[in-house]
Amino acid sequence: MAVYNYDVVVLGSGPAGEGAAMNAAKAGRKVAVVDSRREVGGNCTHLGTIPSKALRHSVRQIMQFNTNPMFRQIGEPRWFSFPDVLKSAERVIDKQVSSRTGYYARNRIDLFFGTGSFADEQTVEVVCPNGVVEKLVAKQIVIATGSRPYRPADVDFRHPRVYESDTILTLSHTPRRLIIYGAGVIGCEYASIFSGLGVLVDLIDNRDQLLSFLDAEISDALSYHLRNNNVLIRHNEEYESIEGLDNGVILHLKSGKKIKADALLWCNGRTGNTDKLGLENIGIQVNGRGQVEVDQNYRTDVSNIFAAGDVIGWPSLASAAYDQGRSAAGNIVENDSWRFVDDVPTGIYTIPEISSIGKNERELTQAKIPYEVGKAFFKSMARAQISHEPVGMLKILFHRETLEVLGVHCFGYQASEIVHIGQAIMNQKGEANSIKYFVNTTFNYPTMAEAYRVAAFDGLNRLF
Ligand SMILES: Cc1cc2nc3c(=O)[nH]c(=O)nc-3n(C[C@H](O)[C@H](O)[C@H](O)COP(=O)(O)OP(=O)(O)OC[C@H]3O[C@@H](n4cnc5c(N)ncnc54)[C@H](O)[C@@H]3O)c2cc1C
Repeated sequence: MAVYNYDVVVLGSGPAGEGAAMNAAKAGRKVAVVDSRREVGGNCTHLGTIPSKALRHSVRQIMQFNTNPMFRQIGEPRWFSFPDVLKSAERVIDKQVSSRTGYYARNRIDLFFGTGSFADEQTVEVVCPNGVVEKLVAKQIVIATGSRPYRPADVDFRHPRVYESDTILTLSHTPRRLIIYGAGVIGCEYASIFSGLGVLVDLIDNRDQLLSFLDAEISDALSYHLRNNNVLIRHNEEYESIEGLDNGVILHLKSGKKIKADALLWCNGRTGNTDKLGLENIGIQVNGRGQVEVDQNYRTDVSNIFAAGDVIGWPSLASAAYDQGRSAAGNIVENDSWRFVDDVPTGIYTIPEISSIGKNERELTQAKIPYEVGKAFFKSMARAQISHEPVGMLKILFHRETLEVLGVHCFGYQASEIVHIGQAIMNQKGEANSIKYFVNTTFNYPTMAEAYRVAAFDGLNRLF
């Protein structure tokens, strides 16, 4: 068994692992990264964020081609299969792996491909695919092993028509009818992708409102547009059992309903990748979801071991994972790059896209904060009209006395980009975070950012 010595060893090469490794390496530390996959990028690149966003982009292009009258001059609406659109996602994955592999090489970070586990608090053993075991000894170790779909014992995931968000990427046909069980962010995103391909989707929600953490108006808009695209949303339902057939599945619900479809996509919950880490050897406990607890410095109960990304739970986003990893390493190298990551915007790549930051109307009303609302509808904006993207709205919530921007909620074209303008203003101190910024600043025209000016005037006009 070969033994290698490092300052920092990072387990996992997803966004959290990459953020940690780059920060430590740039501060001059000798760093190694271990990943059980033979390529870097993590589940984010191979199974989660990147493939789902690439799929969505292709589906949006197909929808535009099929609905924009201009394209009728070059052909009738066309149907594309799921495997067709998957191919374009695979090309993006390859490009991402190649860029990220380059980052590790440029920063002189050693990569070990194999499954890592703790032998003791400073030693990680890596079992490589060829059976060879490498021993890495490090002063500090960062756990960034991410998460995977939760698989309840009473659902048979070996059945060829039962998928979860990882295995759906192996789907080799296009179902006519698909059940998506679980209407969280991943379930709603896949409902948009499949319905965009013309698949009839039954979206099963355990609750009475889609994505209830969103502003109610935005959640309502999502429900409307999903239904408009042939998604049948069934609220307040729970599964009793899932029956596999030769050519499909029947979902038995506790309410007595039975739903038949060609396939079922399970999107209900995730679990931290901690079971193979040998945490019992170093006394780190995990919760019922396999997640590791950390303090505000991303430190576990063992002082030289840190954790970041999905493996620590909330918010389980790639965006946050990168910064958490960077912050964990910031603690190790003490280079002022630490911050506790709690200012994460919401970006949801449904059709339409959704994004928000700050408080919503429900929260402000409950807190008895006197706020006012300013809105801009994309259907009236030049850039949206030029782009044939009339669906959408930007809503700014601001304090009616101080004019401080308290929340920005958006759905429609470019929503996840647009929100950052509001986020930048909300992060300013004193009067600089006033809604007046949007009426006293000249923006490019025509742009989607113009929505801020329109919404700000709309809101300020409501004051008396
Ligand atoms: C369908 C889907 C869509 C998503 N869309 C978005 C989105 O649009 N925006 C967003 O911000 N987030 C999105 N997410 C969430 C995002 O993908 C995760 O938050 C992110 O991947 C977490 O990064 P991470 O670095 O913690 O871990 P991961 O990306 O999960 O990477 C962890 C890595 O560790 C490796 N590993 C595990 N165990 C070991 C071990 N014992 N030894 C060595 N290596 C190990 C794994 O193989 C993996 O490569 C999505 C997730 C899914 C499933």
